[in-house]
Amino acid sequence: KITPLHGLRSMSTAKVSPAAGTELYKTKNLINGEFIESSTSEWIDLHNPATNELVTRVPKSTPEEMQAAVDAAKSAFKSWSQTSVLSRQGVMFKFQHLIKENMAELSKNITLEQGKTLVDAEGDVIRGLQIVEHACSVTSLQMGETMPSVTKDMDTYSIRAPLGVCAGITPFNFPAMIPLWMFPLANVCGNTYILKPSERDPGAAMMLAEMAMEAGLPKGVLNIIHGTHDSVNFICDNPDIKAISFVGSNQAGRHIYERGSKNGKRVQANMAAKNHGVVLPDANKENTLNQLVGAAFGAAGQRCMALSVAVMVGEARNWIPELVERARKLKVTAGDQPGADLGPVISPQSKARIERLIQSGVDEGAELSLDGRNITVPGYENGNFVGPTIINKVTPNMECYREEIFGPVLNVVEADTMDEAIQILNDNPYGNGCAVFTNSGAAAGKFTNEVDVGQIGVNVPIPVPLPMFSFTGSRGSFLGDSNFYGKAGLNFYSQWKTVTTLWKEEDAKTATAEVAMPR
Ligand code: NAD
Repeated sequence: KITPLHGLRSMSTAKVSPAAGTELYKTKNLINGEFIESSTSEWIDLHNPATNELVTRVPKSTPEEMQAAVDAAKSAFKSWSQTSVLSRQGVMFKFQHLIKENMAELSKNITLEQGKTLVDAEGDVIRGLQIVEHACSVTSLQMGETMPSVTKDMDTYSIRAPLGVCAGITPFNFPAMIPLWMFPLANVCGNTYILKPSERDPGAAMMLAEMAMEAGLPKGVLNIIHGTHDSVNFICDNPDIKAISFVGSNQAGRHIYERGSKNGKRVQANMAAKNHGVVLPDANKENTLNQLVGAAFGAAGQRCMALSVAVMVGEARNWIPELVERARKLKVTAGDQPGADLGPVISPQSKARIERLIQSGVDEGAELSLDGRNITVPGYENGNFVGPTIINKVTPNMECYREEIFGPVLNVVEADTMDEAIQILNDNPYGNGCAVFTNSGAAAGKFTNEVDVGQIGVNVPIPVPLPMFSFTGSRGSFLGDSNFYGKAGLNFYSQWKTVTTLWKEEDAKTATAEVAMPR
């Protein structure tokens, strides 16, 4: 029987407004199994992106609190790493059940803190849940290798051992999925964890941590600290942290990769993107246009796998007016409103940045086919809304093309041939995801072979791999050598130990030591 959760979840999902006289819920640290209010004097105000009302205050955890989290994780590692594989699997089974049971509450919290629509928030949780389900296969995933009789009486076997204390630093755009890419796999392999969720929406991570403990994670196995640069640098420098998983922007990713690696840690860093959807004229028109619109504007374009560039090849350029009409019909409103297609962007600063980049396209000579600036959403006049925007006749030298906009903005580029489209795509600094829309198997084969990109969709706009595969990335979108989840994720959170044994019944006949290299 699953016991009901207490306190934290309902507090973090309540729509609290100090103006209305209700008590403000402060986001807490999670240290050694306890949710503790920070003693810091520095707090980050978290606002609902649809209204800009204050939701919670997130602490910048103090150095002492962060050290206490590492001490707890280090101490918990001693026993957690020795638990049986079946008991770690059992925790994941129960965790999986609790996430499903609390899906609606998690989604509500995501919409409140991050702004995406409720249905999209549920997708955020489900894609993370799939990693937890994958972690339930630890009983086969963690098996090692054996070779008997490498020489007479001698056997060798390799085991996947945990690393120790690992840490994760996550972005705002998938507040449930990305933490779930990290700690469940790390924990199920026998590691303990320090999570530093995005300071802009840590609520889902807090709720998930409470569920993981309810599912049986012992004290100290999962800890949560908060903050921005200082907490990130603490993680990069702390000698007891062995590995860092990072997902977020390039600026932060490069810094964390360099600083963490310099300190001898393993680092995996998934970073920014500029994903191209290449449309060949033989594609199914209706499907392709719908998929482009969904992938460009869903989640207000704040997905690392959003298609933010459409490359219309040859005659496909004639489809642009229809693309614009479809985008125009999308409903922009608060994520919890019925029929919402896209919600607000994360912050007023992000809205201002997106609008500036749209204007830069206009200033550099592109055509604004659909302008989502200056949109008013009735009842949500203070929200950070940007409507679907299509910038046509974009060229690769323009700022709106070079920069990751991370908003509901689609750049349209024209190309005469698929070869030209592939060239454009490979010249872009990022290699996160891309898609080709075509009815030609041969064209799709050439495309997948020649593009230097991690995730490739063929008539699939957002090809995020299921967890039996890994989420990959190329060029400017990834630093490290083990990708997230799948087999590579397991490698990241474990180290091989190779054991060679010699069992002989008789003792040696002579007492001479062998000094030459064994052969
Ligand atoms: P962000 O880099 O601003 O924040 C990510 C994390 O890094 C946060 O926890 C934040 O506190 C910390 N941080 C931010 N700036 C820092 C700095 N200068 N030094 C040290 N730490 C810093 O990213 P975001 O805005 O939260 O997320 C959006 C970005 O994440 C986009 O670039 C998007 O493409 C990328 N992203 C990539 C993937 C992927 O798998 N490739 C997935 C999701 C998001």
